[in-house]
Amino acid sequence: MMASSDDYSTSVPSHTKAWFYSEHGMPENVLKVHPNWPIPELKEDQVLIKVVAASLNPVDNKRMTDFYKDIYNPDPHLPIVPGFDVAGIVVKLGGEVTKFKVGDEVYGDINEEGIENLKSLGTLSEYTIAEERLLAHKPPNLTFVEAASFPAAVETAYEGLDRAHFSAGKSILVLGGAGGVGTQVIQLAKHVYGASRIAATCSTGKLEFLRKLGVDFPIDYTKQNFEELSEKFDLVYDTVGETERALKAVKEGGKAVTIVPPGVPPAIFFVLTSKGSILDELRPFFESGKVKPILDPLTPVPFSQVIQAFSYVQTAKATGKVVVYPI
Ligand code: NDP
Repeated sequence: MMASSDDYSTSVPSHTKAWFYSEHGMPENVLKVHPNWPIPELKEDQVLIKVVAASLNPVDNKRMTDFYKDIYNPDPHLPIVPGFDVAGIVVKLGGEVTKFKVGDEVYGDINEEGIENLKSLGTLSEYTIAEERLLAHKPPNLTFVEAASFPAAVETAYEGLDRAHFSAGKSILVLGGAGGVGTQVIQLAKHVYGASRIAATCSTGKLEFLRKLGVDFPIDYTKQNFEELSEKFDLVYDTVGETERALKAVKEGGKAVTIVPPGVPPAIFFVLTSKGSILDELRPFFESGKVKPILDPLTPVPFSQVIQAFSYVQTAKATGKVVVYPI
């Protein structure tokens, strides 16, 4: 039976069960379950969310393995509950929240800046906290697992296309077409922006998957160097970290975007700014099914197997998103 709004507001806990790490390292060495992580007081613009599903991102692994030690040394956030993406139910509101009410089904990426000012309480937890501007109402046609797969990946895809001023009739090459971000770049380029032609790189076994996703020209990177092709593109969107090669595949007057540091000018490098408004803007495409959640076969991963899930994401072999559910 569905709980009513009142049920949620009267059963708000002060502590939560969560995965956490208190030192940097590989997931299998540092991740542990905390039975009683204290939930911080809500700020005026924040909501408390009962987490139902959470998806994993490579940024979680990078943070865990101390990839950002040049930015944080020592890391002020430790101990850390990992997890950026969430889908769940609002159980408590900060005093200034107007967009949501208790009982609403929401989703989003809870870290506004991709690598700075990150939250210590992430989404691999039974409860988490986010500012209302980072969240959107979950479209009813999406399950919690599907909704949790979208935020960071689709918002990154969108921000890159937007920064490059991508538009109808242009061609695009997506490096890393089968990943969490790449699969969304392909779908947005095709269905939201009206790309004239889409090429994307992947390994041999994923060529057919990319064709079905809408790619006109899947390129097997184990057999072909994309920058040696005679065909050039209006935009090359690099999700792998091959920017110098990407620049060689750009048409005269075209652009390259990369999301993997350091990025090489004139390629545009950016770090995602999480915004619930992007999810709201894309909602019609999620509702019509034109832009689909892409779930790795490992999904859903039970909460007890979060370590295995992070180890898998670390291999950079996931197809679409790995989502932890139920939480
Ligand atoms: P994923 O873990 O989802 O990517 C996995 C995919 O990468 C696999 O399907 C794999 O396909 C593909 N892949 C691996 N190597 C290659 C290669 N040489 N050529 C083509 N495809 C390859 O990662 P995400 O998509 O979530 O993220 C991609 C990168 O972008 C990460 O480094 C991440 O940290 C970064 N990122 C940066 C953001 C920013 O704001 N700057 C935001 C989000 C992500 P196959 O098995 O066929 O090799």
